[in-house]
Amino acid sequence: MQDKSITIIGAGFAGLSTGIYAQMNGYKSQIFEMHDKPGGLCTAWKRKGYTIDGCIHWLVGSSPESGMHGYWREVGIAQGLDIIDLDEYMRFETDDGRTLIFYTDVNRLENFLLEFSPQDEKPIREFINGIRLCLKFDMPSEFDPPLKRLIKSVKAGLFFTVHGQQMKKWMKTSMADFAARFQDPALNEAFKEMWGLKFSIIFLLFTFAWLHKKDAGYPIGGSMPMSEALAKRYTDLGGVIFYGRRVEKILVENEQAVGVRFSDGREIRSNRVLSAADGHATIFDMLEGKYTDEQVREPYKNWPIFPPLVYVGVGVSRSFDDEPQTVSGFSFPLQKPVKIAGVEYSRIPVHIYNQDPTLAPAGKTSLVVMLHGSYTYWKKLAKDEKAYKAEKTRAAKTVVDLLEQRFPGISGQVEMTDVATPLTFERYTGNWQGSFEGWLLTPQNASTMVRRMKQTLPGLQNFYMCGQWVEPGGGLPTGVMSGRRLVKMLCKEDGVKFAAKVG
Ligand SMILES: Cc1cc2nc3c(=O)[nH]c(=O)nc-3n(C[C@H](O)[C@H](O)[C@H](O)COP(=O)(O)OP(=O)(O)OC[C@H]3O[C@@H](n4cnc5c(N)ncnc54)[C@H](O)[C@@H]3O)c2cc1C
Repeated sequence: MQDKSITIIGAGFAGLSTGIYAQMNGYKSQIFEMHDKPGGLCTAWKRKGYTIDGCIHWLVGSSPESGMHGYWREVGIAQGLDIIDLDEYMRFETDDGRTLIFYTDVNRLENFLLEFSPQDEKPIREFINGIRLCLKFDMPSEFDPPLKRLIKSVKAGLFFTVHGQQMKKWMKTSMADFAARFQDPALNEAFKEMWGLKFSIIFLLFTFAWLHKKDAGYPIGGSMPMSEALAKRYTDLGGVIFYGRRVEKILVENEQAVGVRFSDGREIRSNRVLSAADGHATIFDMLEGKYTDEQVREPYKNWPIFPPLVYVGVGVSRSFDDEPQTVSGFSFPLQKPVKIAGVEYSRIPVHIYNQDPTLAPAGKTSLVVMLHGSYTYWKKLAKDEKAYKAEKTRAAKTVVDLLEQRFPGISGQVEMTDVATPLTFERYTGNWQGSFEGWLLTPQNASTMVRRMKQTLPGLQNFYMCGQWVEPGGGLPTGVMSGRRLVKMLCKEDGVKFAAKVG
């Protein structure tokens, strides 16, 4: 009988999803996770009664109407999920006392922006038309009945014939390029700040389209319940997760992956090895860089990654009922620029989790200030544990002092602060240089949305990869889709029909 054993490295969204589909298709999988919890980056932690959510802002596919929703049902997340759709994506407060609001409803957004800066009518209309173009695109889904799928496929073909060039143009436009089209400095700054300068704007247009369709909602309870639901679905299907097991080497014999070795020296063998862990560590450490070619090395040499974060959780003994509920928070200008851990900031983004009462005790609120940090700064500092800890304390204090500028009196209400540095992200999830979402989706690599990155390595049999390091742009949906696609590939190799079911 064919050996159907599979070793999966990492119990993040990609690893767990791969395991779920593997179990559904008769494979005997085991997941080895170095942390003591499932979920990888999709996580949260508790401090003094407050939950600091480390991930979810919006879940694409949250609407039961959407093509993506079927995946969430199969992996057991959609069931019982309490989703809310918010009216605002983010707010940007300006130096001159104005507030720029990015509404999630495209018509409201259009009206607001045109009123905010009539002089920028041209780029505003371009932006809005870009969102409307994405709204027109209805991706055929595996979950559609055959006739509906056929019709959608024909329509998608037509869409690309008519709008292909336009979509390509958006793919090739960076946030910095687009921001430069605005005359109003507030719009210029907001577009630059929203997702960073190098991001391809196509992803932002799609995100606004999903938000408008109410297909990118926020799950009450945040990230951890979703990760736990995924782990439960996997174990209910007979999969086994071993926590506290760090894979150090992928064992190879005759150019075939045959198992893994853990940091404690123990080994386990299986017919196939799948890595859902960090790409750099997998390719260059676990496999010692022996199975690469230019195509594999290129991203690690040249592609920008999502920046590492200084992630400051703040627990405040007050409600923020008077502040709007937003998908991504708001940012406000500082009285003067301030340096935190080697990086200078002239404004501070704050996410008030006033939409989710489960994250703080009654009448209190969990806040997150998410700053793009410097990996090298913290790496150097970490050589001196005392200095590293002192810098964390200093960062927390500075953030509270800065919040005071926007919310006078808040310092007296702060009951908890917690700082996660780029090294915290690296330590807990293994992600390269503390990156929080893998590869940035840039004009340079945006075509991977269509032509996907390879999930195998040259010269190595029985080995596969999935997750955010083979899915530029990262995110939870792509993690699940890359796991599903991978198991389909295995089924094809084994000559069996892929099967998936809702639990
Ligand atoms: C602040 C923040 C906000 C985000 N917001 C959103 C959002 O709103 N919507 C969205 O869709 N996505 C969001 N994301 C992105 C999303 O969380 C990630 O893209 C996704 O979780 C990546 O999943 P993954 O399984 O590919 O990788 P990971 O989550 O990194 O999983 C890899 C797993 O492998 C384990 N591992 C690593 N090395 C080893 C080893 N040697 N041995 C054993 N185990 C190992 C790790 O511990 C980890 O559990 C956000 C992320 C962050 C940090």
